[in-house]
Amino acid sequence: MRIKVQKFGGTSVADLQCMQQVLNKVRAALDDGYKVLVVLSAMAGQTDYLLSLANRWSSTPDPAELDSMVTTGEQVSVALFSMLLQDQGIKARSLLGFQIPMRTDSNFGRARILDIDSPRLQAMLEQYDVLAIAGFQGCDCEDRLTTLGRGGSDTSAVAMAAATNAEVCEIYTDVDGVYTTDPNVCSQARKLDKIAYDEMLEMASMGAKVLQIRSVEFAKKFNVPVHVRSTFTDVPGTLLVQEDNSMESALVSGIAYDKDQALITLANVYDEPGISATIFEPLAIAGVVVDMIVQNPSREGRTDMTFTVPKGDLEQTLQIIDNIKDQIGAKAVFHNPKVSKVSVIGMGMRNHSGIASIAFKALRMENINIMLISTSEIKISCLVDEKYTELTVRTLHEAFGLDQKPQPACEEPGQSQ
Ligand code: ADP
Ligand code: ASP
Ligand code: MG
Repeated sequence: MRIKVQKFGGTSVADLQCMQQVLNKVRAALDDGYKVLVVLSAMAGQTDYLLSLANRWSSTPDPAELDSMVTTGEQVSVALFSMLLQDQGIKARSLLGFQIPMRTDSNFGRARILDIDSPRLQAMLEQYDVLAIAGFQGCDCEDRLTTLGRGGSDTSAVAMAAATNAEVCEIYTDVDGVYTTDPNVCSQARKLDKIAYDEMLEMASMGAKVLQIRSVEFAKKFNVPVHVRSTFTDVPGTLLVQEDNSMESALVSGIAYDKDQALITLANVYDEPGISATIFEPLAIAGVVVDMIVQNPSREGRTDMTFTVPKGDLEQTLQIIDNIKDQIGAKAVFHNPKVSKVSVIGMGMRNHSGIASIAFKALRMENINIMLISTSEIKISCLVDEKYTELTVRTLHEAFGLDQKPQPACEEPGQSQ
């Protein structure tokens, strides 16, 4: 049995007209002799709407109830789409996460997939030509509904492809592939024919929301061929592949941005062993994912500690800090939720110096202030005022000539990152 997974995001199932385009893609796969697992997101805006509803009912919604409610978005999509398929005489039915079942851990709101009943899926594919599967959702070992985090339908799709040994996992969305940066922010962004799993992993983890990071991890681990492409055109998109010699040998391969950042500075904390643990341990226990961390050099036994957290975790973080303020000797706590992180990414950076200085010079030309810098061997991230996000992305994209193929070397010998 030849199996194909096709995943369609929120804008692809936004209304009847869009769903008819989805129908065309599914029909084409059927005509090519595939059985099709169609993984759908909620209709555009629905997940945000449901979350806002919960926040009106409760200031601290129970995460399990939140998941129970928010999974209804995908439930509507798969039921409506199955009706369309059946009206066309196609043998199809909808499947919710718990009906497969797709088991996850009990981390409501950010659950991880543990197991998919693939023999059951295979058996159902004997009976049906298309299974319309609700993305983003699963159930834990106590049969409570769970979700996989925002953008989680991508992960559902890749996991389904791995579980059923599908020939390909097609991720259909509102852009026609993976670009050097968000094409909706930078008109000079260039579509990539192929991208290595590792590079995509880095782009996704730095904020490129075209694929959820977990989906790329899955694809890499199980070697799933993923094809990112547009629901609304027929042009080929971008293939996720293992790194090989035929790929562009770029120093810098892309720019990503993440607006979901809030900055916190703890001023004048004691500079002594154990202070970082006192600050970050309770945050970890509360499930707050701390991103950039910078500690200033010591001045008379005191230092400033600056870090970023997701915007949604800012209030909780400030409460936790308030509880330990005296213990760490903080004289003041500053916060700024209007920041974003822009990252320059490239595997080629590993062996080259001078990339950071090119980025900094370009930002100086535009008078963009950098609030925090963090680097790894394959990325440089700058925290900037949120209102300069798009300008920063475009400036860096141009500075590294990313609109050109192949990219020019950007080396400035003798300078270090
Ligand atoms: P879907 O609802 O189909 O899952 P998403 O909104 O989650 O779609 O992801 C698609 C969006 O990702 C695009 O509209 C684009 O704005 C954004 N994006 C960010 N970075 C990139 C990139 N490097 N290449 C392509 N799209 C990107
Ligand atoms: N509907 C969910 C979201 O908006 C999951 C997804 O679309 O991938 O995050
Ligand atoms: Mg998405």
